[in-house]
Formats: sequence, structure tokens, C-alpha cells
Amino acid sequence: MSARILVVDDILPNVKLLEAKLSSEYYDVLTATGGEEALEKVERDNPDLILLDVMMPGMDGFEVCKKIKENPASAHIPVVMVTALTDSVDKVRGLEAGADDFLSKPVNDTALMARVSSLVRLKMTVDEWRARETTASQLGVIDESTSVMDEPVENARILVVEDQAFEADKIAETLHRDNDNVIPVDSGMKAMEYASQHDFDLLIISLNLKNEDGLRLCSHLRSNERTRAVPILMMATEEDMAMVARGLEIGAHDYIMRPIDRNELLARARTQIRRKRFQKRLRDSYENSLEMAVRDGGTGLFNRRYLEVHLQKKLDDGKITGKNLGILLLDIDHFKAVNDTYGHVVGDDVLKVFAERLLDNLRGFDLVARIGGEEFIAILPDIPESKAMFIAERLRRSIADHPVTYGSDEKQLTITTSIGGAIIRPNDYTVQEALDRADKALYEAKNGGRNCTVFENTGKLDPDEYKQELRREME
Ligand code: GH3
Ligand code: MG
Ligand code: MG
Repeated sequence: MSARILVVDDILPNVKLLEAKLSSEYYDVLTATGGEEALEKVERDNPDLILLDVMMPGMDGFEVCKKIKENPASAHIPVVMVTALTDSVDKVRGLEAGADDFLSKPVNDTALMARVSSLVRLKMTVDEWRARETTASQLGVIDESTSVMDEPVENARILVVEDQAFEADKIAETLHRDNDNVIPVDSGMKAMEYASQHDFDLLIISLNLKNEDGLRLCSHLRSNERTRAVPILMMATEEDMAMVARGLEIGAHDYIMRPIDRNELLARARTQIRRKRFQKRLRDSYENSLEMAVRDGGTGLFNRRYLEVHLQKKLDDGKITGKNLGILLLDIDHFKAVNDTYGHVVGDDVLKVFAERLLDNLRGFDLVARIGGEEFIAILPDIPESKAMFIAERLRRSIADHPVTYGSDEKQLTITTSIGGAIIRPNDYTVQEALDRADKALYEAKNGGRNCTVFENTGKLDPDEYKQELRREME
């Protein structure tokens, strides 16, 4: 995966060394030898990942990192702190400044490549959601200026897979500082069992389990539907470096070395939890905004825009499959009078009830949309004309025969609807032509006295005829 990486270090040979290593793996490398220059390049070149030296004259790495993470335009770019310091306090300081990871000098090649590729992969995923979110925000439905650092870190549900009791206790105790709900298990089997029943924010997995392979467990969790998106933090010893690299390759997000430093554990857990919550929020708001773009707010039915796209697709499909399409247009009778008599609020309630009745009386794969104020449409795929007529009459009757209840004292009012139907046989009809045909039938239904169904070609349906059929269906 080609990505652009910014290497920041005040000592030129260090820059050159990292540049050579990364270039040989086909990454595009940018360089900077100070904080100011780094910030400029972040803004101008929008890198996918930043390797940042901690000890620099003037603005040090912590400060640069903090500035990158505070700026909504760059907060999502992963930062890896690179330092000669091994003191865990500094690691934690870096992670708290918003760094996504830490590498110690001299940089271990396996750790460098594994972490770089795993962070780049993550960045690509977040970029994809951000791009979609931007599109959605142009529709004016969501807020674009969100950053990963805004996510809360507390009250996470965490599964800890560790068979050394004292280690498990220490981890749980540490995570309780954030009020996390920690569930400790001592085997992969129990882990899979819990993970398939609950939603977790983080999975912490030992690669030193006595009787099983922690990597295999990671791999199972990555392929399980429910845990696929849950970050994995591995625990390992220095000798397990190859395993750690393999774990990162198969999709684990991070690791921590034993002996486990409490502060580092907490900081790494927070980073993963924050990131997971951020991604979930991006996904949710994207889905939500899509929903809003295709739904009518008043009734929850699909809107006209969606209907037109859907109908076009159905017409295209029909040309291939040869299947009929039933179209029913429904318009509430004298709805203006409902508003005038009972007020707009009651009118709105009536529309909601009307929408529910439509849904109750149609099949799951039929499509119902609100295409105007008190005008609705049902698209019935693959349906014989007689069945479409039957459904139309059943709909009409379900409206006319059952008064709508409104207000807190449950008063009732009766409404009726006129229905125009057409059966579209596969041909080169446009959406508009198809709608016009049903609309003509609806017009006739209005002229024919309302509270009735008119089908193109057949004319007004005789309710008594369908009464028989209705009765038969009830039996
Ligand atoms: P007809 O039997 O010929 O269909 O008569 P009608 O009164 O139903 O038709 P008309 O098109 O004259 O009036 C439709 C009314 O629907 C007018 C409009 O104020 C009302 N309306 C449209 N959208 C809404 C809405 O969202 N809420 C409410 N309460 N009323 C609405
Ligand atoms: Mg009307
Ligand atoms: Mg109308």
C-alpha cells in the first residue's frame, strides 16, 4: 500500500536512515528537521503517517504532536513518536499528547514496518469514512469538525485474555481507573464465548498463554462477525517480537511489552478505545445521514427522491427478468378539510397512521414512499394484475373501515383514500411515464366519487367483488 510518510528529526543522519528504510518498502517519504517545518509540511502535504522525534531543539516532539492533534484538519493523521528515551513516563506523555504509537531508537526494523503498515491501513479506513462523511455533511445533515481526540475513554467494556492470575488482576485494577468494565478470562474458548455474546470496545490478549496460541485467537477474533471491528491489544515479551509482527499483520492494532507498565497500558488502551469510538461515530453518522437523505421525516417512509431511483431500477430489472410491476398511487380524500377542521397537528398524526396502514397491508419487499403532502405510492414487484387490484382494495378498505385515533382523549375520525393503479409490463417506459399512467387512474378515482380504486384499462373496481375475496382471505 503506497502511503506518504513524514519523517521528523533534528539530526540529519537519523532522517536519512528512516528515509532509506521506508523508501525500500515503497513508501513515499517527506522529511523535516524541526517542529515548525514539520507543521508546515503536515498542512501542505497531508501525509498519511508521521514519524516524530521527541528530542528536538525549540519545539519538541510532544508539542508538535499536540499541535497536530489539536487541529481538526490533521488530528486524524497517525503520529508515531521516535525516541532514545526508554522511560515509560515519556512514552505515556507522548501517547497522552495524542501520539498513536511509540518507537525506541535504535529503531527495530520489524517493529517499524509492522507498526507503519498497521497505522497506514487504519488511516485509509478512517479516510474512507471521512470522505463519505464530507459528502454527507454537504447535504447539511452532520457535523464535519469532529476529531478522534473528542471521544470519551471511560466506561469501556474490555475483554482480557490472560491465564496468569496476578497479571490479570493488575490489568483489571489499572483499567478500573477509567471505570472500565473489565471481563477477565483465562482461555481462548471462554474468550470466543464472551466475544460472541457481548459487544466489546477492546480485546487485550496475552501471546504467552500456557496451553494455546494467542495469535490463533487473534485471528479467530478478526474473522468473527461481531469482533471484527474491535481493536486488539497484544501482550508479549521481548522474545516474542516475531509473533507481535505477525499479529499486527493479521490485524491486531497494538501491543505492549512485559513487564506491563500501568501507565503505558492505560494510555494504549485509551488510544484504541478512542479510535474505535471515533470510527463507530463516523460510520453511524454516515448511515444516519444516508437514511435522512432518503427518508421522509414526517412518516419515516422513503421520499420521492428515493422512489424515483428505485423505480428506475425496477423498470430496468423488468426488461431483463420480464416481470411485471404494479404501481398504486394513493391520495387522501379531502385532506385539506382534515387540517381545517382538526388542525395541522392532527393532520400530521393522520399521515403517520396512514403510512403505518400502508406498511401493514403490503409485503416486505413492496416499496412504500411518500411522494407529496398527502400522496403516497406503493411499488409491487412481480405481481399479477388481479392480485394488485386485490391489494389496492384491501388498502382502501383498511383506511375507510378503521377510524384514526387522535389526541390524548383518543377521539376518532374517519378518512378515505382514492387509489389509481397501473401494471407496468417490461418495456422502455421512463419513470415519469409509469407514474403518469397511475396518476391518470387516480384522477379518475377522484372524479369517480373518491374512496374508490381505479385501474388503468379496467376502470373503477367494484368493492363488493373484493369483499368476497377479502372474506375468503380472512377464513
Ligand atoms: P382531494 O380529495 O382532491 O385530494 O382533496 P385534498 O384536500 O386532499 O387535496 P389538496 O391537494 O387540495 O390538499 C392537500 C392538503 O394537504 C393541503 C395541505 O395543506 C395538506 N398537507 C400537505 N402536506 C401536509 C403535512 O405534512 N401535514 C399536514 N397536516 N397537512 C399537509
Ligand atoms: Mg388529497
Ligand atoms: Mg393532493
